Amino acid sequence: MTQTASVARAPWHQLPSVDRLLNTPMASEWRVLYGHDETVAALRQILANARANLSPSAPPPEFETLLGLAAQHLQTRAAPKLRPVFNLTGTVLHTNLGRATLPETAIQALVTAAREPSALEYALATGGRGDRDELVHELLCELTGAEAATIVNNNAAAVFLLLNTLALRKEVIVSRGELVEIGGAFRVPDIMQRAGAKLVEVGCTNRTHTRDFEQAITRRTAMLMKIHTSNYTIQGFTHTVAPNQLAALAQTHGLPFVEDLGSGTLVNLERWGLPHEPTPRESLQAGANLVSFSGDKLLGGPQAGILVGDQALIQKLKKNPLKRALRVGKLTLAALEAVLQLYRAPEHLPERLAILSLLTRPQADIQAQCQRLLPLLQQFLLGHNLLISIEPCWSQIGSGSLPIDRLPSAALVIRPSGQRAGGLNKLERLLRELPRPVIGRLADKALWLDLRCLRVEDETRVFSRI
Ligand SMILES: *Cc1c(COP(=O)(O)O)cnc(C)c1O
Repeated sequence: MTQTASVARAPWHQLPSVDRLLNTPMASEWRVLYGHDETVAALRQILANARANLSPSAPPPEFETLLGLAAQHLQTRAAPKLRPVFNLTGTVLHTNLGRATLPETAIQALVTAAREPSALEYALATGGRGDRDELVHELLCELTGAEAATIVNNNAAAVFLLLNTLALRKEVIVSRGELVEIGGAFRVPDIMQRAGAKLVEVGCTNRTHTRDFEQAITRRTAMLMKIHTSNYTIQGFTHTVAPNQLAALAQTHGLPFVEDLGSGTLVNLERWGLPHEPTPRESLQAGANLVSFSGDKLLGGPQAGILVGDQALIQKLKKNPLKRALRVGKLTLAALEAVLQLYRAPEHLPERLAILSLLTRPQADIQAQCQRLLPLLQQFLLGHNLLISIEPCWSQIGSGSLPIDRLPSAALVIRPSGQRAGGLNKLERLLRELPRPVIGRLADKALWLDLRCLRVEDETRVFSRI
């Protein structure tokens, strides 16, 4: 057999050219939708794949098949990577699932801010330059009792900015029991070091006393700091120094007392039968000079780091050039302003603030929803040899808030009937690969779908294959 003969019979000669595929009505549509270059690249890719898979024994793919593959390829590339999911994990503020969902007023506000020019840093009263922090300054001071406030990208940035501004090349005294790591990426000692501050740990993991702080104060001390132990508790033989004692000690020595609250809520959650979480107002009243907290944890707003406290300290933070690097955008400010407005009518918060609606949902309500969805799930899993039941469970607030407190909830629980444990992972994947993925929680050899975060209006869309 000669070389030429073998080439002539090679099956890739039977694949159409890019131009032939491009000259179809379908491809014309794609050029409008996705652009010319993107369409050509997709066709080339599909042809290259087909060529690589050709075998002398099988016929090459049909013309129509190739077009179908190209359509799929283009759709996949154009689909958003940030996809909505159903959070049925039972963790309401799930950091990996985007934490707080926003109330409708905040969504409207950020859409408007995205669409129109806005007075972001423009003082409409005078026509002069404005300050973006001013947009939420009054609200924050009113809601926390603070003299002044400023906003940065997230609470990690807030802590970084305050350390870098007030404690550069100086010492910060923190209780050893409060050196937290949050989600692996935020570790208090690391942030301190990067901010240029020297950490001075005092006390023991379980017990810290006022005298421990007192003995550690030197000429190089910049501040006393308290960090909310968001994602764990130390129980048993413990002692921590109350904020008002630390504040008094700091004041005696002419030092600021700073508190990182982590999840800041602006209202007393006990009002709705939820566990107490310290508020910035309480912290300031106890004598803190500066308090930092997140915008997207219990506050229920967009990702942001909020700093409130003494006017003089806030002024220093705002003068640090890093503030410019850590500042928030207009979309964040628009959403934050709308969320803070809701706090002016706290009695309506459970209906108006998305996160609080979820946290205050009664167990009976969730239980009834489980009953409604049971047939849908049974239908969805027909033929899978699984047992589905409705069981009480505990939701978690999450995002480091209130680590040990649980909210009574109800779940659809799926167990393999028989001893095939591997079936659960397959099931978990099946749900994860739905058009709108359903994310549950694997525990006790079962997949738990806690319905606390499933809105009633979404009931018909969950477990849907289209
Ligand atoms: C969550 C948390 C942070 C980090 O806040 P982000 O808004 O995620 O940057 C810092 N400190 C504490 C105590 C926290 O709970």
